[in-house]
Amino acid sequence: MDYANKARRRGDKIIAIDGPAGSGKSTVAKEVARRLDFLYVDTGAIYRALTLAAMREKVDLEDGKALAELARRVKIQLSMRGDSLKVMLGREDVSRAIREQALTERVRFVAQIKAVRAELVKLQRKLAENAKGAVLEGRDIGTVVFPTAKYKFYLDASPSERTRRRFKELRQMGQKVRAEAIAEDIEKRDKSDMTRAVAPLAKAQDAVFIDTTKLSVRDVVEKILDIIGASSQ
Ligand code: C5P
Repeated sequence: MDYANKARRRGDKIIAIDGPAGSGKSTVAKEVARRLDFLYVDTGAIYRALTLAAMREKVDLEDGKALAELARRVKIQLSMRGDSLKVMLGREDVSRAIREQALTERVRFVAQIKAVRAELVKLQRKLAENAKGAVLEGRDIGTVVFPTAKYKFYLDASPSERTRRRFKELRQMGQKVRAEAIAEDIEKRDKSDMTRAVAPLAKAQDAVFIDTTKLSVRDVVEKILDIIGASSQ
């Protein structure tokens, strides 16, 4: 029997991975999901897609009520296209648009609204529960979205390494960015994500902490597979 079937029978089909920007969680989560044949849920992409919808519809980012209404109305879908995540907002492929720096700076306004989070958490739970197994990555997966998940990980890395990774990632996407601007954005986002009143970024007490500063993606993936008992997959 494969890992997904065993995990489902044991009731531990959810793997939660949290951490700040540039901690390596997206790359690692995607690879863990691929190895286990689990669904990969990038919850940051969902917050980003909603932010894009708000910008397009010129919704005031300070207007919590309008944003919550938007969250209830828009259709956001995630799927895999080969190795990369495809994000749909209604009928439009927004996979690239949601990674723009101007948008990245605005996500925190949307992410701090309680009613918005309630709606998006509902979507995240539904996606994961309908899958045979799921790896979810974000800021509040182990603390809020799936607090009872058996496997929880919290990834972090030094600020300079996180800046270096984000810089490389954005350059590869063809964006013209400066390292200083990225360092600033990461610092601002960390602060806002960690100090907001609703679902702040935090390590769940029972999460395994992994400092990825000096580890390769492969190292981190193997470590996680080892802990969940799937290293031979
Ligand atoms: O993971 P990513 O960097 O794409 O997330 C973008 C932003 O979305 C974060 O900085 C955070 O403000 C928000 N977010 C969140 N909760 C999550 C995932 C992302 O608040 N579970």
